[in-house]
Parts: sequence; C-alpha cells; structure tokens
Amino acid sequence: MTAPSLSPILDPQALAQSLGACHVIDGQLVPASAGGTLPVYNPATLMEIAAAAAGDAADVDIAARSAAKAQKLWAKEKPRDRGKAVAACGALLTAHVEELGRLTALETGKAIRTESRVEANVLADVFVYFGGLGSELAGETIPFSHEMLTFTLREPVGVVGAIIPWNAPLLLMALKVAPALVAGNSVVVKASEEAPFGVLRVCQLMQQALPPGVFNLVVGDGPTCGAALAEHPAVRKLTFTGSVASGRSVYRAAAEKLIPVTLELGGKSPMIVMADADLDKAVAGAVGGMRFTRQGQSCSAASRMFVQRPLHDRFVAALCDKVNAMVMGDPMEEATDIGTIISKRQLARVQSYIDLGQSLCAETEGAKAHICSQLPADPAFSQGLFVRPVIFTGLPNDSRIAQEEIFGPVTMVIPFDTYEEALEMANDSEFGLAATIWTTDLATAMDATHRLEAGFVQVNQNLVVQPMLSYGGVKASGLGKEASLQSMLAHFTHKKTVLINMGR
Ligand code: NAD
Repeated sequence: MTAPSLSPILDPQALAQSLGACHVIDGQLVPASAGGTLPVYNPATLMEIAAAAAGDAADVDIAARSAAKAQKLWAKEKPRDRGKAVAACGALLTAHVEELGRLTALETGKAIRTESRVEANVLADVFVYFGGLGSELAGETIPFSHEMLTFTLREPVGVVGAIIPWNAPLLLMALKVAPALVAGNSVVVKASEEAPFGVLRVCQLMQQALPPGVFNLVVGDGPTCGAALAEHPAVRKLTFTGSVASGRSVYRAAAEKLIPVTLELGGKSPMIVMADADLDKAVAGAVGGMRFTRQGQSCSAASRMFVQRPLHDRFVAALCDKVNAMVMGDPMEEATDIGTIISKRQLARVQSYIDLGQSLCAETEGAKAHICSQLPADPAFSQGLFVRPVIFTGLPNDSRIAQEEIFGPVTMVIPFDTYEEALEMANDSEFGLAATIWTTDLATAMDATHRLEAGFVQVNQNLVVQPMLSYGGVKASGLGKEASLQSMLAHFTHKKTVLINMGR
C-alpha cells in the first residue's frame, strides 16, 4: 500500500474513490478477498460515488485474527500510553474535520453545516475525551481479611466486534472504538454498507497513531459480513448500534458464545410540554430534538410531542413556521438546513408511514398532516432522496404513527389535559431511549425525571450525545451505555478479583 495522504483531501468524491473497495486490516488498506463490491450512491443525486468492498466471512476472519494477535501486545502497553495514542488520533481527526464532514455529507446526504461537519467535530472530541481516561482503569482494594491482600483489576475483554449504522457513522463508531482501545482491547468494526467511506478514512488515518491490527474495519452487508463478525470465535465482546431486529440477531449470536453485548437500538422519544413552559424555547427544542436537519434519522428523535392543551395550537403553529423556514437542498451547500434520506429503501419506508398517517387523518375528525418546507428547485437534485417534513396533529398515541419507529422527518403533536395523562402516554411505548420535559415548575420537572421510562432524560433542553454522559436506552431501546468513563469500565473491561495469602 502506498502511504495514505495525511493532508486533508477536500474533494470527497476523489477521496471515496481513493479508498475504493477496501477494508483496513492489520494497518493496511486491502480489497475484499473474494473481490466483491457494493455500489455506494450520493443520495442527493443518486449518482454512484464509488464501489465499496462487499466483505464476507473470510475477510472478517483475517481481520479478527489480526486483532487477536495485536491485542496481546496492546494490552501490555501502559494504560496512559494507550490513552495518549487515542488522544493523538483525536488530534489527527481534528485536523481532518473539514475533510470528514464533506465526505460524510456526500455519502449520507446530511447537510454539511447543520450535521456533517458537526458530527466530524464530535468524532474528534470523543477520541480526545477517552484519550484522557487511560489512568482511570483502576481496580479497588477490598478489606476482606488481615491475612490476605485482596484487590480487583480492570482487564480488557479482548477483541471487540463493533457493528454500526449509517445515520451518524463517525460518531457512533467513535463511541465504541475510543473506549475499547483505551481499555486495552483491539477492535474490528463492521461499517454500514450504505455509508462506509467516512469511517474507512477515519480508520486509515488512525493507523498513523496505532500499532497495526489494533483497529481494523471491514465493509459489507449485515447478513453476510455483520453476522460473520458477531459469530467469530475470536470476538469476545459485541457492541451494536442499529435496528431492533438486527440487534436481536446480534444478541442471539452473543448468547451462543456467552459473551457480553451492548445494544443501542431504536427509539420513539417523547417530549412533554407543560402549559407553563417557555413556548419559544420549547419550539426551538422541538426542532432540534426531532433532528429535522438530519431528516429525523436519529434514534432519539422527538417523534412524539405531548403539549398541554392551552399551549397546543400556538405550539403547532410556531413549529410549522420554523420547519417551513428550513431550507432543503444540496447537502454540500452551507445554506442548506436539511439534506436527504440515506437510501431508496429507507425513503420508501418513510413514505409508507406518511401515506399511512395521511389515510388515518382522512378517517379522523380534526386530524391533519402539516407538510412543511419545500423540495429543492434545482433540477440537479430532481432524483435526490428528499422528503418534506411532516407534522401530524390529531392522531392518537396508540396509532402506528405514534408507536413504530419511522426514522424519517415525521413527528406528531398530541394534546393533553393533565400531567399524569402526559406521563402515561409518554411511557406507553415499547421504546425507552430519550425523553424531555419542558416546564418552569421544579417539582413537576423532578417528578418526571424519576418517572419517565428512558435512559436519557432532559429538562428544558434537548442535547444530543455528549462525551462524559452515559447514553443508552431501556426497554426495546437497548442494553448498556456508551459515551462515559463508567460505560468504558462497565462494557469494555472485566473485573478480576485477586486474593494473595501472606501465609502468616
Ligand atoms: P440496521 O439494523 O439495518 O443496520 C445496522 C448495522 O447492522 C449495519 O452495519 C448492518 O449492516 C448491520 N446488520 C444488519 N443485519 C445484521 C445481522 N443480522 N447481523 C449483524 N449485523 C447486521 O440499522 P440501520 O438501518 O443501519 O440504522 C437505523 C437504526 O439504528 C434505527 O433503528 C435507529 O434507531 C438505530 N440507531 C440507534 C442509535 C442508538 O444510539 N440507540 C443510534 C443510531 C441509530
């Protein structure tokens, strides 16, 4: 392999083509062993960007063996030195934020200013954050007996298999790779076949700061490449972000091998707006929380908004005004607020829910679909996977629109009379990822933080994942946490108990 360019490459198409149909295994960019490829399309134009590798079990086997070999030496490095290497990756990635933002905008259709560049910045920050945690891998001493020195050690689990989706590939990969490496594990990532190039470039760049084989990345589809990784005997821990259905299959593979697993799955996150809330802040929070800028393709999207009746109509009007003012268009353009859906398959799924919602509206008195913003007028994007955001009103919380994850720019506003009624509807969901409540009453806010069934609860704000704050769901939204020191200790180490008998 010729040495990769360390200078940022700002032409994302050329960069994707230079990465080509490859994996990164043992420090090298290598083609799929069977030579298979998968086309990756620019969702804003449907033109092919480049072919990606169609990895299979043979590629996974080479990557997992390389990772197993490298892990033995990596685990012997001083923890702070591992942290320094991960922090160096953070510095390298910081220098490539613009490049990675542009590549992500090209392959995912997420707008550069509102989404892709932001994600590239957070990616780098996650590596910087975890890079500082090498010295925190401490065990405990335990006062078991005067005759025995008793303590615990935090040891790495071995090879980590990480499977990631397409909606925030850089960030979701970083949340797995950075803590796994600092804790002394090696990693094999299975990238999403729909957005492989940004993470491939990250892995390629990180080889400058890591020994070969410590961080490998394979590209391929889920049933072939993802399943092979989940089932590989050398993989001793699985961490997965994606849909509930695929998560179940990864969980089954982990059960067969009796290995630990972290699952970050779907959501149908509620937002409760009390009548005493600050309307402007709540509406701004609704726009941010629903991730309209990402076409709603977020696991924690505020896709069920419960608004107390005195505020309901004003809230709906203000929300529609704000979403109408958002500019949908070329993801590479700074002026664009909203880009595209990732794929034709996902677009068809989202459209089927919009159609369902509209037919429910036709049967339900007073229900309405508020269709917002405008499709781009530029004919260059006539084939692009753009969808106008939809806000449904007047549909009940037990409708499919309210209960199933759509993963598109579709939300609903439901009025309520009492706080108890809102809480009951908010918790009436198979999911439990994130939730927010908007109120100026401290007692109500505190009560809701205890009673909302979600892994991430916020009052009067709607932040996304933050390094140092544990993130992860309950119920069908998953198992385990990410993004914090505590999650690194809990999910990327195991605790060994040691007793030394002094023999006196
Ligand atoms: P997906 O489940 O289709 O795919 C996710 C990844 O799993 C991909 O890499 C895919 O190739 C792989 N995969 C698919 N089937 C597999 C199998 N049988 N074995 C192993 N790997 C397999 O999900 P998606 O459509 O890419 O992503 C959208 C989903 O991800 C949504 O449900 C969303 O809520 C969820 N998500 C959750 C979080 C979170 O933090 N909780 C964050 C982002 C996305």
